[in-house]
Amino acid sequence: MQKIIVCLKRVVDYNVRIRVKPDGSGVVTEGLKMSINPFDEIALEEALRLREKGQAQEVVAVSIGPEDAQQQLRTALAMGADRAILVQTSAELEPLAAARILHQIVIREQPGLVLLGKQAIDDDCNQTGQMLAALWDRPQATFASKLELNGTVATVTREVDAGLEVIEVDLPAVVTSDLRLNEPRYVKLPDIMKAKKKTIDVVAIDSLGVDVAPVLRVTRYDTPPVRSKGGMVKTVDELVTALRDRGLLA
Ligand code: AMP
Repeated sequence: MQKIIVCLKRVVDYNVRIRVKPDGSGVVTEGLKMSINPFDEIALEEALRLREKGQAQEVVAVSIGPEDAQQQLRTALAMGADRAILVQTSAELEPLAAARILHQIVIREQPGLVLLGKQAIDDDCNQTGQMLAALWDRPQATFASKLELNGTVATVTREVDAGLEVIEVDLPAVVTSDLRLNEPRYVKLPDIMKAKKKTIDVVAIDSLGVDVAPVLRVTRYDTPPVRSKGGMVKTVDELVTALRDRGLLA
């Protein structure tokens, strides 16, 4: 296979405690640590492993986001991506808009495989990969925990409620990564230096001629209710008594 595209979203780092804006219009993102969406890092790691096994020639990282998303693309280049594309926009895009943009990049690049995360941890939508596959009119395999390429077919193990499901999809295809697909590598300092020489193509969103107008209306964001404090017990007897006192045990 010539090329794998990996889609990377810049999101608030998963270690950061999120705060809702006082007027409920969104979450505070200013000044917070931003990272590659964790599932996308897993998708990238998988693409790099396939290239290292000789099953792909090139790994191209693509992000749609603000100019600062170049930081996450630099990290992807340091991990080992060959080049990167930033579709620059300051707008918060919905999955359908993101899928339409990614579809345009896919048409330009003609990859043999597109890897995405199963979901972005900021919006938890779990939609973009599926929508991209529909727009591209190619097969999809979501929630992948194992991926093998055999010529024109990809064999994908999927994590489903009943256990593991193994499917085959014809390539080119869209695959979205689940948590157990792999453990991404750490970036080493020499790789960061080398990544500085690699290219990031910046594409103006308007040049793609895509309708990115929102189709959803978010009415409000709220913080989850505060959980009451737990208590510590030393013995099983104490636990049983505590549960009985609360009427949780007969
Ligand atoms: P979502 O449907 O929003 O949960 O996102 C699913 C996946 O689509 C993410 O894990 C990314 O791989 C990809 N994706 C979503 N938004 C973007 C974006 N702005 N730039 C690049 N990839 C994205």
